[in-house]
Amino acid sequence: MSRLRWNQDDFAIARRNMVEQQLKARGLADERVLEAMSRVPRHFFVDEAQAAQAYRDTPLPIGYGQTISQPYIVGLMVEALGLSPGDRVLEIGAGSGYQTAILAELAAEVLAVERLKPLFLKGRANLARLGLTNIRLKLDDGTLGWPELAPYQAVVVAAGGPRVPQPLVDQLAPGGRLIVPVGPTEKSQKLTLITKDQEGRLSRSTLGDCRFVALVGRHAWSD
Ligand code: SAH
Repeated sequence: MSRLRWNQDDFAIARRNMVEQQLKARGLADERVLEAMSRVPRHFFVDEAQAAQAYRDTPLPIGYGQTISQPYIVGLMVEALGLSPGDRVLEIGAGSGYQTAILAELAAEVLAVERLKPLFLKGRANLARLGLTNIRLKLDDGTLGWPELAPYQAVVVAAGGPRVPQPLVDQLAPGGRLIVPVGPTEKSQKLTLITKDQEGRLSRSTLGDCRFVALVGRHAWSD
C-alpha cells in the first residue's frame, strides 16, 4: 500500500473492488444494495489514519471498543431486509453511521439509535457531512426501539445480544423483517431473521454465524 495520500479515484477503485470481490463473489446479488455500497464512501466513517484500510475485508475499530462492521456483513444484513424505496427502517447501533447511510440510500427514512454519546456525535457528524437528510438519530438504549415512530417495515441491530429484544418485535409492521445477531455469549452469535406476516404471525430463521460487539441494554446484556 502506498504511503502517499489516497485521492478520491483511489477510493472509488477500492470501493468497486470491494463490491466485486467481497460482496458479489460471495453471492450478494441485489443490484440496489450493491449500487448503494458502491456509492457510500466507507472511508468517511473511519479515522483518517485508517482511511486506506476502509475497503478491506474486515471490521475496523471506531473507538470506545466498538467496530464498523465488515462490508460483507453489512451487505448481507441489508440485502436480507429486502428494502423498498418507501420503507421506514429502524437501526440499532448506528456507531460510525456507515450502515445508516447505506440504509438511507435504499429506504424512505431511517431512524437510528446509538447508546454511546461520543459515537452518536461522531455518527451524526459523518452523516451530516454526506448531506443525507432522511435520517433521524437518537441517543438512547435501542433495545427499547423507538416506539413513538413505530411501526417499521424493517429493523436491523448491529450488535449481538442474548435474545431478540421484544420491543423490536412489537414495533415491526405486518410484512416486516427484523435482523439481529443472537447468541449465548458475547463472542458468537447467529444472525437471526424474524419475519412478521400480514396477520402478525412470526417466523424465525438464521443467516449464519457471526461475531458482533455486545448489545448492551434493558433487553440485552447489562452494562
Ligand atoms: N453499524 C455500525 C456498527 C457499530 S458497532 C457502523 O457501521 O459503524 C455496534 C454499535 O452498537 C456500537 O456503536 C454500540 O455502542 C452500539 N450499541 C450497543 N448496544 C446498543 C443499544 N442497546 N442501543 C443502541 N446502540 C447500541
